[in-house]
Amino acid sequence: MAGKVYIVGAGPGAADLLTLRAATLLHAATIVLHDDLVPAEILELCPASAQIINVGKRCGRHGRTQEQINALMVWHAREPQAQTIVRLKSGDPAVFGRLGEELDALRRAGVEFEIVPGVTAAAAAAASARVTLTDRRAASALVILTAHNCRNESLSRTMFEPARSTYAIYMPGPDYASTVKGLLESGQKLDMPCAVVSNAGRANEEVRYLTLGQLASVKGIPAPAMLIVGEVAAEYLPRRHGDTEKIFSEIPALDNDLHLPLGT
Ligand code: SAH
Repeated sequence: MAGKVYIVGAGPGAADLLTLRAATLLHAATIVLHDDLVPAEILELCPASAQIINVGKRCGRHGRTQEQINALMVWHAREPQAQTIVRLKSGDPAVFGRLGEELDALRRAGVEFEIVPGVTAAAAAAASARVTLTDRRAASALVILTAHNCRNESLSRTMFEPARSTYAIYMPGPDYASTVKGLLESGQKLDMPCAVVSNAGRANEEVRYLTLGQLASVKGIPAPAMLIVGEVAAEYLPRRHGDTEKIFSEIPALDNDLHLPLGT
């Protein structure tokens, strides 16, 4: 029987800022793979019988590489006894959490997974500072970026190159044609992938994977909706330029037992 991997956002570190969905999954977990930033008060929600593994990159000589973490998730999901595997990441897993690499590995291995969002550090920091991130009088955009990246790109390049950025656009409708027009004027291309998500996280959620060109003429997208624009949304679109092969060839084999990092 196959296990399932839940990639769960732990929020900024206070247990009462976990989502109820995250807390419920932690109560039911049999295996928990967590990052360094997740504090003990959150791990204490797991049953005593759960196997809790710190896979953080900063835990000294026990640190795991990303490939080892990917392999661990897949290995536990393939255990004969079905496991409930919680991959616990600080904040929201989709924000600077190497989620893309983990999703590639799970998809490649055919492992069932689900993502549970969390309160990201930007939201928590704004609340602590008692400031707003957007303000209709002063700030109509929120671009999330990092000063630390593996490509050694300068901050200014990251900020101003539309093809290398993801835009999370709130209130994108109902006039999607006009939103697309604005994006094209700001340097986006018609074939740029996007995902429109209505009622995200609710029972009636709906996701559409499109290109910007297609989005301009789509009708009947329910509100509330979020629009995510960028290459990250390409996963469910037909691949261009043989991208699939390129991505997969960069991931080391996962089903080779010798590759497993556990000394257990
Ligand atoms: N996925 C996380 C971010 C991981 S990157 C999220 O969505 O929040 C790790 C960085 O996030 C840290 O170096 C720090 O810049 C920021 N961060 C995470 N938790 C934080 C907290 N409680 N307060 C302030 N910054 C935090």
